Amino acid sequence: MHQTLITSSSSRLGLGSWIVTSHAHMKKCNRCLTEKEDSCFPKDKERLYSLCKDCKNAAKREWYSNGGNKWESSYKKYVKDFKTEKYLLKKAQVRAKNKNIPIDITVDDIIIPECCPILGIKLFSGINIACDNSPTIDRIKPELGYVKGNIQVLSYRANMLKSNATIEELEKVLEHLKKIV
Ligand SMILES: [Zn+2]
Repeated sequence: MHQTLITSSSSRLGLGSWIVTSHAHMKKCNRCLTEKEDSCFPKDKERLYSLCKDCKNAAKREWYSNGGNKWESSYKKYVKDFKTEKYLLKKAQVRAKNKNIPIDITVDDIIIPECCPILGIKLFSGINIACDNSPTIDRIKPELGYVKGNIQVLSYRANMLKSNATIEELEKVLEHLKKIV
C-alpha cells in the first residue's frame, strides 16, 4: 500500500482523516482495524478517508448523540481542543489536584505512541467516551505522581488492568489465574 497521511494527528486519535492512496485495493480502517476494499471507504478524488464508511457513520452518530453539532468543522475543533496531549494533561491536572498528588509534567512530556506498550493495541480515542484503545496517562510509580520520568501513555484497557497495583500484587493475580483457569 502506498499511503501518505495528510492529517496524522487526528488519524492517530482514530477520528478520521483523508489519505492519499495510489494503487491500493485494500485498506485498513483506523477504527475497526479491519482490512477492507477501497470501495468501503468514503472517497474524494484520489483521497480515501481513514475510517471505513460504517465507522465514519458510527462516529457521526456518536458525535451527534453526544450533543455534537455540524459534523466536520465542529468535530475538528473538538479533536483539536480535547483529544490531544493537551487533553490528557488537563485530565492529569484535575486528578492530581483531587488526589493531592504532585504534578510537574508539561504537554511536551506526554508522548502518545501508536500502540499501547503493554497490550500492543492501536491507540485512538473513542468519541466522547473512553474505549479500550483510548490513550491514558499511567503513573509508573503511582505514589510519585505525574512527575517527569514517571509517566507513560497506555491504553485505557492496560491502565485499568494495571490500576495502582504493585508488581507483587500483579504477580499474585497472575499466579492465581494460572492455577484456576
Ligand atoms: Zn471501520
